Amino acid sequence: SYENLAGRTAVVTGAASGIGEAIAVRLAAEGAKVALLARRAERLDAVAEKIRADGGQALAVVADVTDDASVATAVERIHAAYGTVDLVVNNAGIALMNAIEDAPAEESQRMIDTNVTGVVRVTSAFAKDLTAAAAQGRSADLVNISSIAAHLTGFQGIAVYGATKAAVTQLSALLRGEFGPRDVRVTNIEPGVTETEIATHVEDDGMREQLAGLVEAFGALAPAELADVVAYVTSRPRHMNLRQLMVLPTRQV
Ligand code: NDP
Repeated sequence: SYENLAGRTAVVTGAASGIGEAIAVRLAAEGAKVALLARRAERLDAVAEKIRADGGQALAVVADVTDDASVATAVERIHAAYGTVDLVVNNAGIALMNAIEDAPAEESQRMIDTNVTGVVRVTSAFAKDLTAAAAQGRSADLVNISSIAAHLTGFQGIAVYGATKAAVTQLSALLRGEFGPRDVRVTNIEPGVTETEIATHVEDDGMREQLAGLVEAFGALAPAELADVVAYVTSRPRHMNLRQLMVLPTRQV
């Protein structure tokens, strides 16, 4: 465990499963109050229940990051329950892999809406919280979960997904210009293959099998291992920012 996370007020998007769930569980275990956002109420409630059973504080907030009104309502609920947020993890994301000639326009649009516009929307919604928390002398963090796909070349079927993640990485870089001078850290994490349910949402059978094959071949990371990285970076002294982290299985090529 790392010091300094007790008493933090965190928001984790996409906390119903996978990496987001693990991050929410870990931050709560470190003593942070954690608001969990995602669309599936039952899955979210189950995670929040697990956190509370372990003595942590959790608020399940059903929200869709692609929807302005939904995010605005979530912000109100979080403020009412927990006050000013000082740690935001933009983790919600989808990877609907497809060869470009087969990619339904709707799927590409949904990836852009979730992975890019969703991150922008949630960041805007909590920007004042982060700068206000920092102005009060509290640690303040924005953590964006991008992907190594932001840099890959030569893989099949992930062009649009990779482009959304490259956008997240560059968004993180330029947000530092706005947030850094006001003592808000921006950490961009680019995971490699991690064992979650993300591939199960892929419609194309061949692509889904290809992804499952990567988990076999590379020896995937566990979500809890990435959660440990998030706990580490957000618990450093507030003047120190680990900006950009690629975290991959050793065997991934
Ligand atoms: P999961 O599918 O397990 O988790 C995605 C989470 O996002 C779910 O909790 C889902 O919940 C939520 N979500 C999806 N759409 C929305 C939305 N519109 N509004 C709110 N929440 C939403 O996958 P991972 O844990 O693997 O993915 C988490 C992040 O990690 C993603 O950004 C992904 O791109 C990134 N990543 C994953 C890698 C991997 O190998 N697994 C590698 C590199 C990066 P619900 O459906 O209930 O809304």
